Amino acid sequence: MRRFNGTELLVATHNAGKLQEIGSLLEGFGISVVSAASLGLPEPEETENSFIGNAKLKAHAAARASGLISLADDSGICVDALKGAPGVYTADWAETPNGRDFTVAMERTWRELEAAGAPKPWTAQFRCTLVMAWPDGHDEVFEGVMPGAVVWPMRGNQGHGYDPIFVPDGHDITFGEMESGMKNKISHRADAFRKLIAGCFT
Ligand code: IMP
Repeated sequence: MRRFNGTELLVATHNAGKLQEIGSLLEGFGISVVSAASLGLPEPEETENSFIGNAKLKAHAAARASGLISLADDSGICVDALKGAPGVYTADWAETPNGRDFTVAMERTWRELEAAGAPKPWTAQFRCTLVMAWPDGHDEVFEGVMPGAVVWPMRGNQGHGYDPIFVPDGHDITFGEMESGMKNKISHRADAFRKLIAGCFT
């Protein structure tokens, strides 16, 4: 395992929320965090068919272009009865002619489960892959997972994305009904970050 050996980390995202979240998770390690957007780096297309593939593609493109150690993530929800769909297409299922609408994506998930006659519980996992890439081509990969089940109808208006139809294992409320502090302790992203910090930063 290669440790982070720089002073500045490039976060390969154009999403200000993600940059802020990652910056606060890495507070206390004496690292300054910059985003791909602030350096004017282009956002590569996510052309791979796995979370690892897409996260590697983004992390290596950023490291090559900037000369900085770069961190990228890719995440989504995988529903067992839908053979892992939407998976890497999690955000795509929300695309509409007027931009992303996650109600559309959640309704599609429910309709496909009904159409498949899938028995309940509709088990699923949120997954998050983090890749840290060095300008010399080396990388380290960390995977986080939160198992649970898809429920219908949607419940709660906290969080984002598919949160209102996902009940994490060990709980009886959806991520959409859960207070953010609790979600951020148990989520797939928290799991991946704990592994990243243990592997590369401590
Ligand atoms: P990406 O990792 O930015 O490509 O995002 C993939 C998609 O997965 C997001 O647009 C969200 O819809 C979904 N997603 C990832 N993590 C979560 C989560 O914690 N709650 C709800 N949806 C999520």
